[in-house]
Amino acid sequence: KISIFWFRRDLRIEDNHGLYEALKGEFPVLPIFIFDPNILLKLNSTQDARVEFILSALHAIQKRLLEQGSSLKVIHASPREAYEQLAGQYDIQAIYCNHDYEKYAGIRDGSIQSWANQRGIGFSTYKDQVIFEKNEVLSGQNTPYTVFTPYSRKWKERLAQHAIQVYPSETLQNYVKFTEELPSLGSLGFANTGLLFPGNSVSMEIIQGYQANRDFPAKGATSRLSVHLRFGTVSIRSLVKQAIGVSETWLNELIWRDFYFNILFHFPHVSDGHAFRKEYDRMEWRNNEVEFKAWCEGQTGYPIVDAGMRELNSTGFMHNRVRMIVASFLVKHLLIDWRWGESYFAEKLLDFDLAANNGGWQWAAGCGCDAAPYFRVFNPTLQTQKFDKELAYIRKWVPEFQELSYPQPIVNHEFARERVLVAYKKALGR
Ligand code: FAD
Repeated sequence: KISIFWFRRDLRIEDNHGLYEALKGEFPVLPIFIFDPNILLKLNSTQDARVEFILSALHAIQKRLLEQGSSLKVIHASPREAYEQLAGQYDIQAIYCNHDYEKYAGIRDGSIQSWANQRGIGFSTYKDQVIFEKNEVLSGQNTPYTVFTPYSRKWKERLAQHAIQVYPSETLQNYVKFTEELPSLGSLGFANTGLLFPGNSVSMEIIQGYQANRDFPAKGATSRLSVHLRFGTVSIRSLVKQAIGVSETWLNELIWRDFYFNILFHFPHVSDGHAFRKEYDRMEWRNNEVEFKAWCEGQTGYPIVDAGMRELNSTGFMHNRVRMIVASFLVKHLLIDWRWGESYFAEKLLDFDLAANNGGWQWAAGCGCDAAPYFRVFNPTLQTQKFDKELAYIRKWVPEFQELSYPQPIVNHEFARERVLVAYKKALGR
């Protein structure tokens, strides 16, 4: 008789809530990971560094498990098939995992839960990915917040009332004893990209200097933890503890992350291709494909935009300030539907996360909750003067920007600004 712990967006042995509960239980735990073809087949390229990242995280878990005489069982099949296979091999008593708030995940987990229930197998899931979820942070009227500042105030009040839990899963050893090899990248149908991944910790120096330096892309002054938060190779609880009392600004960024999960949970229409504010769905986009391609390739003639897109294309990362600039540029200067940008980011970002990405794009397009107002059009030249005055970031990614070979601006700023304001006013009836 065994129980199963199912790793998903929580790829770590330490401080893992669901794993902790499984290991505390009556039966030895079989740790599993499922490479789900429903997800893998959606990836546009066989060179997708996120699969490499996952595999490297699984290797780190495997190393720890081998020390205990155990192993990770990795299955490449749909979750339903994977559980059928496992049920043929083991007497499964219970399945443990952590909550996953995305729509596909909800459907997947519902289907496994009913599969398990039909067989008398327990199915328990736990909060691990966020500090507060679902209905834990609500307004005085018991409604979900749609504006960040009051949400974050309530979030902090709640945190002050409830000490951050610790789940020392790394200290428990109640695993099924067996050894098995992990699959190779090639056997999953993927090839190496050679991309390097940032480390999964942040220095006190970065947190302390965050407020002063975070907006300057050349400074490397942010944590670079987003890919780790995405796949759970770091615990959000440990980061919040690090932030408290050191940097309110950095803590707020971690709260933005909870906030967008909260929006996705309460307003699932945002992930079905709809604007949070539905009247914005009346926008008439130009959607010029040639201009979209120029934006994707970093050939717009606006060096700060091009630097950002090139950073994204070659590293799978882009600095937050630059994400805001390129997103605003696509939507407002080129009048291209924000969903096109959202899906390009989804394909390229190592840290792609539906909640934060959708939130970021809807913010930039003015149609999100607590979004930038539609009439605020970032001026890329002024943004450069403010945040990359020495042009260090631009020189790094667009070395030819002062040469003749560099393209002319794809559109004139003032013209684009007037054009988009007319389009928004028409859509919103103002
Ligand atoms: P830090 O500045 O060190 O912040 C620490 C952590 O806080 C981040 O790792 C992240 O988990 C969280 N965080 C910070 N800012 C935000 C934010 N605005 N919203 C939600 N969480 C935040 N972030 C993603 O993780 N995945 C995405 O797919 C994503 N898409 C975005 C798209 C657009 C258009 C915009 C404007 C922002 C997007 N962001 C996304 C938010 C933000 O840009 C990144 O989280 C941040 O740049 C990651 O760098 P860092 O780890 O060094 O962050």
